[in-house]
Amino acid sequence: MIRFVPSQLSSLPKADVDCQVTLLDGTTVEGRFHLNRANPYIGGRLLVRWIKTWTRWNQPVDVVVEQVGQGNRLRLRMLGTRPAATQERKRVRRGALRLASVESTRRRREYSAWERDPALRRVVLQAWPQKCQVRGCPSSSTIPPNLLPSVLEVHHVVYVSAGGLDSPLNICLLCANHHTLIHRAPTSEVQRCDAEGVNIAIDGIALAIDRDVAALWKLIDV
Ligand SMILES: [Zn+2]
Ligand SMILES: [Zn+2]
Repeated sequence: MIRFVPSQLSSLPKADVDCQVTLLDGTTVEGRFHLNRANPYIGGRLLVRWIKTWTRWNQPVDVVVEQVGQGNRLRLRMLGTRPAATQERKRVRRGALRLASVESTRRRREYSAWERDPALRRVVLQAWPQKCQVRGCPSSSTIPPNLLPSVLEVHHVVYVSAGGLDSPLNICLLCANHHTLIHRAPTSEVQRCDAEGVNIAIDGIALAIDRDVAALWKLIDV
């Protein structure tokens, strides 16, 4: 849902005009502003999807409208920043191994995990081919196809713990080996993350991750 800041509703143009949208990370995409009398929104489906790709999954986003120069060109700026890692978003799960009778060797381990939207995993597994997206990864030839949906792991390019969004543009599908490699390598650097793909350098080795964000759009409800 795209919400315009209410005080600006009266100044929205009465016709379609070109616009630019500045996304949460500062990048800009081009589009058309489209006025719908009942519910003003921008740019038609493609632009709305772009915005939703950059926002937190299923959450409304506020948009500020600014006029560019004298022409009928608009700049639309999304409000808000990437969410900080806050305690409220952390959910504590408790796990314990119940190994009856071996009291002396039994240990209880508690851990916490960042909350993620399970709907996003379902959409991703529907929209993308069910295989590890690291270019050249042989895992899909060694894992039975019917097991792939439960074996594949969703990775957040910018970690959720570091404020990364639980949103389509910030995720990719990985096999367990590549996922572990990215998290455990002494150095892991994201060199690129856009609609066409992701490049991550791990101890000097470049991993190319091929994913088609546009394929997700048709499954995202706008
Ligand atoms: Zn991960
Ligand atoms: Zn892999």
